[in-house]
Amino acid sequence: MTDSATSAAISPTEFRAAGTDLSERRRSGVSRGPLIDLVRPAGAPDITWNENGAARISAFTTIATLAADAKLAAAYPGLAAAAAGLATPQIRHMATLGGNLAQRSRCWYFRDPHIACLKKGGDACPARNGNHLYGVAFDLGPCIAPHPSTMAAALLAYDATVTTNQRQHLGIAALLGDGSNGHADNLLAPGEVIESVDLDVPAAGERALYRRAISRSHAEWPLAEVVVRAVIADGTFKLARVAAGGIAPVPLQLEAAESVLRGAAANAATIDKAVAQSTVGANPLPMTGYKLDLLRGLMRDLLERIIA
Ligand SMILES: Cc1cc2nc3c(=O)[nH]c(=O)nc-3n(C[C@H](O)[C@H](O)[C@H](O)COP(=O)(O)OP(=O)(O)OC[C@H]3O[C@@H](n4cnc5c(N)ncnc54)[C@H](O)[C@@H]3O)c2cc1C
Repeated sequence: MTDSATSAAISPTEFRAAGTDLSERRRSGVSRGPLIDLVRPAGAPDITWNENGAARISAFTTIATLAADAKLAAAYPGLAAAAAGLATPQIRHMATLGGNLAQRSRCWYFRDPHIACLKKGGDACPARNGNHLYGVAFDLGPCIAPHPSTMAAALLAYDATVTTNQRQHLGIAALLGDGSNGHADNLLAPGEVIESVDLDVPAAGERALYRRAISRSHAEWPLAEVVVRAVIADGTFKLARVAAGGIAPVPLQLEAAESVLRGAAANAATIDKAVAQSTVGANPLPMTGYKLDLLRGLMRDLLERIIA
C-alpha cells in the first residue's frame, strides 16, 4: 500500500488528551486526520469515592496521580503499583487514564507509515511472517501485536468498568474486545469518549502486586506484565485474581491459574500448580515462546511474595 493509500485508510478524527501517544503518530504521519482536544472540565476531581468506599476515576486523571494517591493505593494496591511501573516519570506526569486505555498499538509495522497492516485498513498482518519478536504468545486473532495498555490489564484484575459519553459500565473486555478484531485496538465507536472508570468496593485484607518483564531497564512497554490480587486468610486463598498484559491482543485474565489458587492452601505446592496453569491457552508464534517463560517467572515471583 502506498503512503497516501495508508493515510486515506487511517485518517479519522482523533481525540487528543495529553498527546503522548498521538504526537508520535502525528510526527510519523501514521495519524493525519483532524484532531479534537479533550479539555478537562474546570474543577472536575480526579478521584471520587462513594459512601461504600468505591472509587470513580476521571479519564483525565494522570498516571502519576494514580501512582501517588495514597488512598487509592490502600484500596486498590495492584492498580497503583501498575501505574507506578509504566513508562517514565515524564510520561506518567502527562499521560491520562483515558489516553492510556485508548492508546494505539506499539507494533513497529503499524507505526511505520509506509507499511500496510490490518489496523491501517490493510488486509494482512505483516508481522505474522515478519519480525514478531515482541508479538503475542496467545495468538487470538489476525493481528499479532499485544495490547499496549498496562492500566487495562490492572483494571481487568479489578473488574473495573468504563463509562463513555455513549455507554455506561463497560467491562474491559467490552471496551477492548476479545482479541479477534485485528482492525482496531478498542471497540470505541467514532466520537465515543471515555469519561470515567469505576471500581468495586475494595476487598478487605487484599494484597496485590504488579511486576513486568521488560527489554531494557525503563521507558519501554513490557514484554509481559502481571497483576496478582489475593486475600489470604487461615492459610488459604479466599480471593485470587490474575491479569496479564503484553502477551495477547487484549489483556488476559488467567482463569486457569486463578481456579487453582482459589480455596487452596497458600503454599509452594499451590504456587507450582498455578504457575503451570498460567499458560493454559497459549499458542506462541515462532519468535514469542520466550514470553511464556517470562509469564511463568512473573507468576512465581508474585505468588511467592504474596504469600510471604
Ligand atoms: C517511552 C514510553 C514508554 C511507555 N510505556 C508504557 C507502558 O509500559 N504501559 C502503558 O500502558 N503505556 C506506556 N506508554 C504509553 C503511555 O502510557 C501513553 O502514551 C499514554 O497513556 C497516552 O495517554 P495520553 O493522555 O497522552 O493520550 P493521547 O496521546 O492524547 O491519546 C492516545 C489515543 O487515545 C485516544 N484518547 C485519548 N483520550 C481518550 C478518551 N478520554 N476517550 C477516548 N479516546 C481517547 C486518542 O484519540 C488517541 O488515539 C509509554 C509511552 C512512552 C513514550
